[in-house]
Amino acid sequence: MKIQTRNKRTKRSRKTTLNVFRGKLEANNTWLRKHLDTLTFYRKRLSFKEPSSVLLDGSMFYYLALHGKTLDHICELIKDFTANFYTTDCVVREMEFYFQSYSGPKDVLEESIKRARTVELVSCVHGKEISAEKCITNVVGIYNSKKVFVATTVNGCWPLVNENPLIPIITVNDGSLVLKNLSGNQRQKAKGWSSATPVEKSALTDKELRESPDYERLLRRFDFYGYVGEIALGDGNNQVKAISQQLGPSDWPHEKVRAFVVKQILLHSELYENLVNPPSVDSSNWTFLEYLFCTSKDGAWGETVTLQAAADAFEVKIVVIDSSEDCAVHDFFPYGVEHPKKVLCLSCVTCQDETHYNSIQKLPDRSIASTCSRNYLDPKPEEQDHESE
Ligand SMILES: [Zn+2]
Repeated sequence: MKIQTRNKRTKRSRKTTLNVFRGKLEANNTWLRKHLDTLTFYRKRLSFKEPSSVLLDGSMFYYLALHGKTLDHICELIKDFTANFYTTDCVVREMEFYFQSYSGPKDVLEESIKRARTVELVSCVHGKEISAEKCITNVVGIYNSKKVFVATTVNGCWPLVNENPLIPIITVNDGSLVLKNLSGNQRQKAKGWSSATPVEKSALTDKELRESPDYERLLRRFDFYGYVGEIALGDGNNQVKAISQQLGPSDWPHEKVRAFVVKQILLHSELYENLVNPPSVDSSNWTFLEYLFCTSKDGAWGETVTLQAAADAFEVKIVVIDSSEDCAVHDFFPYGVEHPKKVLCLSCVTCQDETHYNSIQKLPDRSIASTCSRNYLDPKPEEQDHESE
């Protein structure tokens, strides 16, 4: 009886073990299928060619050293044994900083720094010393045009890298190296974001602009504050073109201005996140990433966040003579810069939900207007009051 019972138990437990094993196998198969799907998506749809480029951060070097794994394990994961591995100066510097300040056992940290020094270093092109996270963000960019795999165990942080479907992430899940899967929705976004969109033209006619009250108001403000310049309709590039005109178009063509402004927003996201996305509305970084993709496209219309970022990036003050009823002049001061290198002067006319920026010139012998946040419901008399002061 005893033996029978034991046999029954053994049979039952064998069955359970078999079911658990089957479950695991199915889970593994599901995971493997998703992994291969994601890898194929990057290789075929987004043209990630071999040899692959893999950029590693400190956390990944630490994981590999701790578990006695090598870069071959990553090669195996992405099915490419010709892959090239990189890291950046800032990553190594940050690891060395942790090494010096860490009070626990340092052997794994030491080994991971040793490993980081054996791969190729990407030279840091940014001026100031920045965190490893920002440095990697800078190297990869939002479009990941160099088609780089990023290997990091920092999951849930670094939203500009980790939540960008154009960047394949090699990470760790349940103790194993994995390629982060992309959902169907993320794939759609990746395809949409990586394709160019036509430059949006103005839907207005010159006649409609000239007959609008905003046009008249802006002309009066030019006269009052002492500016001259054409008020013209442009396309979605009108703000970057106006900045380019003010900076010197041969040195700063509008495409280069846009790229510089987007890089500023990307690298100093903490300065702009709340402006783009007030916490009271929706504080998810995904929206901020979407904003970045939108802003970076040729022909995307500019607004006050891009103006502030331009002032910060070029270290200039930007004065905007505005046509709106409630504010005549906007000043954008560069963040943390006491003496701006230059003052850029733009006009802004809003007509039927379109906003057009133009480059303007200040007439000599007129002081530069200061910020005005007063209501200009009836601008003429109030401006005359100012003038008589
Ligand atoms: Zn760097």
